[in-house]
Amino acid sequence: MNRRQLLRQAAALPAILASSVGAQGDFWRQPRSIWLQRMTHLGREEVKAVYFADGRVVADGYLAACRLLRDVRAGQAVQMSVVLLDILCGIQGFLRAYGHSIPLLTTSGYRSPATNASIEGAVRSSMHIQGRAWDGRMQGVPADLLARIATYLQGGGVGLYQGRGFLHVDDGRLRFWRG
Ligand SMILES: [Zn+2]
Repeated sequence: MNRRQLLRQAAALPAILASSVGAQGDFWRQPRSIWLQRMTHLGREEVKAVYFADGRVVADGYLAACRLLRDVRAGQAVQMSVVLLDILCGIQGFLRAYGHSIPLLTTSGYRSPATNASIEGAVRSSMHIQGRAWDGRMQGVPADLLARIATYLQGGGVGLYQGRGFLHVDDGRLRFWRG
């Protein structure tokens, strides 16, 4: 992927979102899929599945996504927020509208309170412990562009960790910060 191309696309974001994943388009009426990858002690894990269709959660795809987004350290999975999955789906949908089909490389999904407490700089009330937040990146896509897409989607909180090249999204109140 070409960074300049992507940045040019980003400049047209509002119009693009309106036509591809915005309220006026039919993006959200179609089956919603998610493509997640994660490196764990088991190697590279991957889920590419539909998690929502015809107005309801699709159990197989949804549970597979929840498993991948588990607390790896504690070996615990929870039911993740569907709105959170929608935010990730929206980011992927935006990029796919431009022919960029790219997996979401996950660094963190659900965190048990103990795992969360062990992470330096993590807030105690982290949305991760409620299964409502995701940290990660996409190969070849600048984190600040991902943050812009996530911000336009208005699904919740967006944290941009530019130095470390990753993004935090959650389904909480709309807010933006840099870490
Ligand atoms: Zn986070």
